[in-house]
Amino acid sequence: MDVMKQELESNLKLDNSVFRNKIRSEKIPKYYFGPLHVLFNAALLFGSIIFHAKSLQAPELIHFTPFIIIIFLGNLAVFFIHKYPLHGRFKWNSYAYANHTKTHHVFYTEENVTWKDTRDWYTMFFPPEIVFAFIVLYHPIFYYLLKPVIGSNTTHTFLMASSCYFILYEIIHFTSHLPSKHPLLKIPFLRMMRRHHQIHHSPRLMGHYNFCIVFPLVDHLLGTFVDDNRYKVLTGKDAPGNGDTPN
Ligand SMILES: [Zn+2]
Ligand SMILES: [Zn+2]
Repeated sequence: MDVMKQELESNLKLDNSVFRNKIRSEKIPKYYFGPLHVLFNAALLFGSIIFHAKSLQAPELIHFTPFIIIIFLGNLAVFFIHKYPLHGRFKWNSYAYANHTKTHHVFYTEENVTWKDTRDWYTMFFPPEIVFAFIVLYHPIFYYLLKPVIGSNTTHTFLMASSCYFILYEIIHFTSHLPSKHPLLKIPFLRMMRRHHQIHHSPRLMGHYNFCIVFPLVDHLLGTFVDDNRYKVLTGKDAPGNGDTPN
């Protein structure tokens, strides 16, 4: 595992453009087409929402309670998945750690947080196999676990809400990596979440702070929320600029 840490540290010392070109030429397959990646993930996630919506039988308003619950459960799940499998170094998570900490976080740093073209989406959206696993494992497992306890309709809405949260994650993570002048970032909430995520991309802070992606509830609750002022206290240097990448 120390080899992994050494490799991460030496890649972080490289000029960002050098690492980006290395990933573009060595890791991103020639056939990779970013919009198809997005279409695949979206088809699976929206498909699951349609499937569960069609499975509802005479639903009542009370059956949609999971949409409120998932706002909090999803926030908690993202916090812990992001903190441990994606940033923790354990024997069992080398795939997640390699994809997230060693690739996404070196490709996109606090100073270079934006993508240049759609091939750079390879390192930004969830890998298709993870979205596929979410559909073929999470959905059936939770369906059979929850149905006897909360009933068929509420189980279907729980799974619909889970897919909605996943989609929100992908959208807000995407807008957090847009150039700072993008029209979508005129929306104060998206601008705030971009800054929150940009600070998370600081190599010194990534393993400890700003793990929330959709909204920073659990970061506030567990004391891991870092804004510009706390950034200065923690790192001893000025908060980063806008993170727009020149290359
Ligand atoms: Zn990111
Ligand atoms: Zn991260």
